Amino acid sequence: MLWSALLMMLFPYSLRALSLSPLPCRSVHSGAALYAMPKRGSVVDSYRSVDILCTCRTKLFTYKKKNGTKSNLVKMYVERIVDDPFGILTASEGNELTEDDCVCSNCNQKFGRPGVIKGLPAIKIIGNRVRMK
Ligand SMILES: [Zn+2]
Repeated sequence: MLWSALLMMLFPYSLRALSLSPLPCRSVHSGAALYAMPKRGSVVDSYRSVDILCTCRTKLFTYKKKNGTKSNLVKMYVERIVDDPFGILTASEGNELTEDDCVCSNCNQKFGRPGVIKGLPAIKIIGNRVRMK
């Protein structure tokens, strides 16, 4: 803390410039039109809400899942996550998710990997690391 205060005194403008640097542009995938886009909007709202739990039973997310709990969870589109009790998404708002974001806040087990599926930001679930309720 002292160190940064000293830096602030010496280089007030350079530090400000750093904190004001624009966020990286979200990449636009030109190939996205080649495949069917995942459904968005009101159709997704009608999907069942499923609680996504870590194997330690901590609730990680509430997710709008098309077939409810009938089919396995292999991926989660970030925009279909409706509840995020640990603020995993809020913490990375404006930035892309990192590997460290896909970790259970309770037991520190990694449950997924960030990625892009059909042009949308998503989390690829690591097999058997989550449960559905
Ligand atoms: Zn856990």
